[in-house]
Amino acid sequence: MSIEEKLCRLGVKVQSFGDTYGGYGALTPQDLAAALSLCNKVGQEVIWRRVMQESLREEGYNEIYSGAWNIVLGKKLIKRPDAPLVAMKILDEALDDYTQQYNCRTCGGKQYVTRGTVTRACPSTGCRDGKRLRTDAERAKSIGVSRSTYSESYRDAYNVINDHLTGILPNAESEAISCLIRYFR
Ligand SMILES: [Zn+2]
Repeated sequence: MSIEEKLCRLGVKVQSFGDTYGGYGALTPQDLAAALSLCNKVGQEVIWRRVMQESLREEGYNEIYSGAWNIVLGKKLIKRPDAPLVAMKILDEALDDYTQQYNCRTCGGKQYVTRGTVTRACPSTGCRDGKRLRTDAERAKSIGVSRSTYSESYRDAYNVINDHLTGILPNAESEAISCLIRYFR
């Protein structure tokens, strides 16, 4: 999927992008970075992750990380010598959960299921508009630790960081989307 198509899914229609030769070229990651540089920092990281499936690792990421780290530190949630690094791994997982949109396993993202001729709303209790949160086991695997290590050292911090992100990311993202809409109009 092209960058334009991914942006379109976020509600950003690329209508006025000319490449350096004055023609209409495909949007490159550099073009997206240039457009995002005009938007709020946290929003830059969120949009970049959604479109490029990786972290921008710039000011916005650092801002999100320092907010998450202060909470983890204040609550003494990670009792390990490598706590700052562990917090970063957890934050990356939480950001992935927020931006990568894992499809619900029951409906596959469609929000409904069909049996024979009957179609009904997805019955999964974990289904949120066709999306789902990953399980602890999936996150443990992604971080590269055992399930029990995850439960002991990571899960509480994950929940707190995830709550924190839920509070700050949606606004930052919608502001950045408005910023991109203006840019590409
Ligand atoms: Zn579902």
